[in-house]
Amino acid sequence: MRLVVLKEPGGEARVALTPAVAAKLVGLGVETAVEAGIGAAADYPDAAYAEAGVSVGGEREDLLAGADMVWRVLRPPVDEIRRMKHGAVHLSFFDPFRETESLAAFAAAGVSAVSMEMMPRTTLAQKMDALSSQANLAGYAAVIQAAALSRGIFPMMMTPAGTLSPARVFVIGVGVAGLQAIATAKRLGARIEAFDTRPVVEEQVRSLGAKFVKIDLGETGQTAEGYARELTPEQIELQREGMAKVCAQSDLVITTAKLFGRPAPVLVTAAMVARMKPGSIVVDLAAGAGGNVEGVVPGETVVTDNGVRIIGANALEATVARDSSTMYASNLFAFFEHSWDAEGRCFTIRPDDEILRSCLLTHGGEVVHPKFRKDS
Ligand code: NAD
Repeated sequence: MRLVVLKEPGGEARVALTPAVAAKLVGLGVETAVEAGIGAAADYPDAAYAEAGVSVGGEREDLLAGADMVWRVLRPPVDEIRRMKHGAVHLSFFDPFRETESLAAFAAAGVSAVSMEMMPRTTLAQKMDALSSQANLAGYAAVIQAAALSRGIFPMMMTPAGTLSPARVFVIGVGVAGLQAIATAKRLGARIEAFDTRPVVEEQVRSLGAKFVKIDLGETGQTAEGYARELTPEQIELQREGMAKVCAQSDLVITTAKLFGRPAPVLVTAAMVARMKPGSIVVDLAAGAGGNVEGVVPGETVVTDNGVRIIGANALEATVARDSSTMYASNLFAFFEHSWDAEGRCFTIRPDDEILRSCLLTHGGEVVHPKFRKDS
């Protein structure tokens, strides 16, 4: 069994394998190979991989063609899927709702593709939940980055030269990223308000010392998997009205509201941004999923006419690549161990396994996931 990890495209700083996890794989008897320089942007030098017993270097083409299993952070380019071995296994982030070309390519190549986005949110799969591990760090990084950009400070300060009020932070969408954003802003001394459409969140917000903004939207609820339901246009309008004043008073607004398998809802309109103070910052963590803020550009910072900076956050977890890679590689290893046969020293795909049923997209030359199969 030969496991290969390749360099990520487009300047992605994270890496799917850390030397610590590599040592565990080697300990299990897995022949492991990585491209040279793979962890450089996350502070993991080649020497550390070599020390863990990994083969470092070689041509990318050869590594890919010889792999029984490939680990990545991002979805691979389609032409690289085509060059993989029939029967190989591929683990990475990969959104089957939007990346349909890759889905078809994985099936055609006979590769068993596992999507980390589709990992079930169950107790058993918690260690494998890469969406949560990365969202957690994105929430942290959003606050740290905004604090560094802000021309004001976060905590209240009483000095002989005068008193400075604490920064006001508004977090919209309190899932994993939102909760960490609240906790981080709290540690910096900010005054925090938050809102989410799932009623269960109110208690969690309060327990972190933040104020929950009350907006009566009628029936909202959540899905059995714990995700938010899509609101009606009338409910979205009510929500915007309820949030406009809080946004106007805030120095920092962080939005994280996503809908599983659908574009993110626009919750902060240009009119709401126009009422904000000059110098205020909006960080849209849903920018890659369509954006919660009108006018956001993924990967860029837009400055509005009234001096508000809207940050189109794209995978902010990559700004703390050493730690996000540590967590991601652990998620992959937990998944790997779940299907590793220690006696036979092989990785066995059991499509009817409780976890694989959710995250295995293609197997045996076809799309096997019930949500994406042609006959479903
Ligand atoms: P997410 O990234 O899909 O969305 C972020 C947040 O935005 C969610 O809290 C969602 O309710 C909220 N949202 C959606 N539409 C909104 C709107 N119009 N206005 C305001 N907020 C809106 O969510 P997530 O971080 O993946 O977490 C979703 C839930 O799943 C959380 O309760 C989380 O704790 C839970 N979870 C459970 C497990 C597990 O059981 N193993 C693992 C991870 C997450």
